[in-house]
Amino acid sequence: MAATDSDRAEVVARGCARPIKTVSGVWVRCGSRVKSRCESCAELYRGDWAAIARSGVFDGPVEEYRFYLLTLTAPSFGRVHRVPREHGARVQRCGCGVTHSADDAGLRGVPLEPSTYDYAAQVAWNRDTGLLWDRTRRRVRDRWESAEYFVVREWQDRGVLHLHALVRIARAEAPDADVLREAARSAVAWSKVDGAVVEWGQQADCEAFRANGDGARTIWYLSKALNYVMKDVVEDGESAHPAVWAHIARLDRAAREMRCSRDCKPGCRSRVHDRLGARSHVVSASRRTSRRSGWSFTGLTRTVQRRLRREWFEAHAAETSPMPSEPVTTVPEALDGIAERARGEMVARGAAVP
Ligand SMILES: [Zn+2]
Ligand SMILES: [Zn+2]
Ligand SMILES: [Zn+2]
Repeated sequence: MAATDSDRAEVVARGCARPIKTVSGVWVRCGSRVKSRCESCAELYRGDWAAIARSGVFDGPVEEYRFYLLTLTAPSFGRVHRVPREHGARVQRCGCGVTHSADDAGLRGVPLEPSTYDYAAQVAWNRDTGLLWDRTRRRVRDRWESAEYFVVREWQDRGVLHLHALVRIARAEAPDADVLREAARSAVAWSKVDGAVVEWGQQADCEAFRANGDGARTIWYLSKALNYVMKDVVEDGESAHPAVWAHIARLDRAAREMRCSRDCKPGCRSRVHDRLGARSHVVSASRRTSRRSGWSFTGLTRTVQRRLRREWFEAHAAETSPMPSEPVTTVPEALDGIAERARGEMVARGAAVP
């Protein structure tokens, strides 16, 4: 007996908190990246990217490369309270005159002076950070031709993005970590929306490591960062302390009033306005071209991962044996492309209703 559509749907959508029924009656995964909406789909997304991150560190001739963990931050848009994350952590006295402990979490990242804080500049920086990274990686490649990278953008408490990049450079031309850090940190871009100068903040960090040394620690760090970026900062604000919530609300307003592009008009529906200015790509990696290996030594990308899952699923859907009773944890679980298309179909149908 061949697998029926409902058997198939059960396998495809298994574990998904909010499966979607398509017009053809097939259930597909929601494909969410936000853990609070669907843990299963968000976990799959994180796992895919973690595999890509790993394949650029461990799946090649690692002894021929030097690796770096580069962190770049946003500039200051006004002073904020400095509150430690852990109890007993040693911290400097805050600009408000108090030495905060972890108990003051309700002030973490909150401006000292909301009346003078530059909310508009901060959301514009979030908007233009992709452009700034583009200039930064070109600058790095101009000096070190072999540079490949894997990047995670993470939210800081003050509601601004910062960036962690794994960088791989051939040993023959590999610079000191400090030299790479300064080359990256001093990159400059000009906003395509308003022409303003876009720069990194003074705080930057770069550590060199060997993949046969502390590579595992670095991957652990990146997995942690991947977990971070899937939280939706605006949604999380609902359960936050009042001062934090007020800060996020002001940023949210600034992001709605901001122009997301040169063609942005009032009533614009771009997601950039919902995400404190940020675009949706939180993780990226350099791609393989005819001249370059790209970040992954094996050419692993999310497109390849999706294709492999689809092939696995199609091969198994044709089997005559009963569906497995145990949850299938990795192979058929995403089919994100199908979920994406399904959502498109649903929107199209909704719009057709008078
Ligand atoms: Zn889901
Ligand atoms: Zn303070
Ligand atoms: Zn817009």
